[in-house]
Amino acid sequence: MDATLAMAAYNGLKFAKDSLTTIVQGKVEIDTQTRILAALEKLGTAQDALFQMRDEMFSLQVENQQLKSEAEQNKKRQEKLDQYELVKTTGGAIVHRSKGEPLHYLCPSCINKGQLEILQDNRTMSGTFRCTACAADYPINPRENRPPIRKDYAPYP
Ligand SMILES: [Zn+2]
Repeated sequence: MDATLAMAAYNGLKFAKDSLTTIVQGKVEIDTQTRILAALEKLGTAQDALFQMRDEMFSLQVENQQLKSEAEQNKKRQEKLDQYELVKTTGGAIVHRSKGEPLHYLCPSCINKGQLEILQDNRTMSGTFRCTACAADYPINPRENRPPIRKDYAPYP
């Protein structure tokens, strides 16, 4: 049963109630009038219940649509995540690494929040990569221990 059927039932009851009300306003015996009034009261109660059911059904349909949409998004995110594997990098970070080229890593913190964010190389001696979404740094590559650059160093004679 959907909202359209509930509305049809509601309209049917409304028609019956209105018809009976019109009859009561005509000349009928007191006993018959009392019974018709009792029937009218029951019809009114049923009409209210149907009206309420229609509203609840509408809410459930909206909620159902939202859940379907969320399930679809989760499925797509999982399909993307299946293209990665959890690894410990040479720098010591535990992150998701792409199975294919170009090799890249995902921010584990953002994955937990439902986002797939690619880590960017900071290009520093520390070997860290940064998540541009949450600004977290991860030690992907081992720390380099290069000698400090001399200021009097001239690359060209
Ligand atoms: Zn992040």
